[in-house]
Amino acid sequence: MNIGFIGLGIMGKPMAKNLIAAGHALAVYDINDAPVRELEKMGAKAGSSAADAASGCALIITMLPNSPQVKEAVLGENGVIHGAKAGSILVDMSSIAPRAAQDIAAELAKKGIEMLDAPVSGGEPKAIDGTLAIMAGGKPEVFDKVKDVLLEMGSSAVLCGGIGAGNIVKLANQIIVALNIAAVSEAFTLAAKAGVDPQAVFSAIKGGLAGSTVLNAKAPMVLEGNYKPGFRIELHIKDLQNALDTAHELGVPVPLTSQIMEIMQALRVDGKQKDDHGGIIQFYERLAGVKVRGGGWKP
Ligand code: NAD
Repeated sequence: MNIGFIGLGIMGKPMAKNLIAAGHALAVYDINDAPVRELEKMGAKAGSSAADAASGCALIITMLPNSPQVKEAVLGENGVIHGAKAGSILVDMSSIAPRAAQDIAAELAKKGIEMLDAPVSGGEPKAIDGTLAIMAGGKPEVFDKVKDVLLEMGSSAVLCGGIGAGNIVKLANQIIVALNIAAVSEAFTLAAKAGVDPQAVFSAIKGGLAGSTVLNAKAPMVLEGNYKPGFRIELHIKDLQNALDTAHELGVPVPLTSQIMEIMQALRVDGKQKDDHGGIIQFYERLAGVKVRGGGWKP
């Protein structure tokens, strides 16, 4: 299939590589030239704009930071809407505000272009392996047309409802992940200050009820003091802002989401916004005056 792929960052680049490996003809675009050149060497066509990458493609995929960038790349001056043909499908796999996904879909519909919102969970390792969890919103008949392609980037693709539902599910995912990391961080800091080896904490609890995918992914990073992203704190702040806005719009109080948002804001003020979100533990280390391991607070 001819696929336009726009946004070749930590996630988009390996996802695009997997589509090339699966035999698709890709046209790619990013405002950063380096990943475009890298994919060109693998056989992709370099688009001169989002519109150019979208032209002649049955499917266009976007993997961009947030709602404003997706609006710009899809509806802006040189956006997808000006290159894509009627009957083509845009699948936005970025994590954006559900309302923005609905607004973009409404504009595309005026030109006969279909849209799914299909954000992902799993981070860079699963983007590389092609084992992302994909949560989609849109029309069932549109989803059926692209499901096989989605499964070349993910191990699951679930249609959760109409347009915007994919991002509602992603917000739920991000609330659970953020609070899970905070709980792990709080617990490990307590154990460390009590003089218990954090490695022993991890080994002892990972097989019990406190075990989780988050614990397995983030505890080893915390034990090494390695906060290289992965998923940056600044991107999680973006998701939590979308969660707070959406929840308040719907009349849903989210007290714990507010608390973890403020913890991440404190880390941002401390210059740690580019760290992996596993670096949340540095907030707790500073409060407690203890280093669990590695690059945390230096007394
Ligand atoms: P990233 O910042 O690494 O990549 C974004 C890319 O978009 C960059 O290469 C940037 O140059 C490009 N870009 C920005 N504006 C553009 C525009 N107008 N036109 C063309 N290109 C543009 O981000 P990422 O980590 O790859 O995340 C992408 C999305 O996936 C985000 O919504 C993020 O929340 C979500 N996500 C990330 C992870 C993760 O672990 N990194 C996991 C799940 C979901």
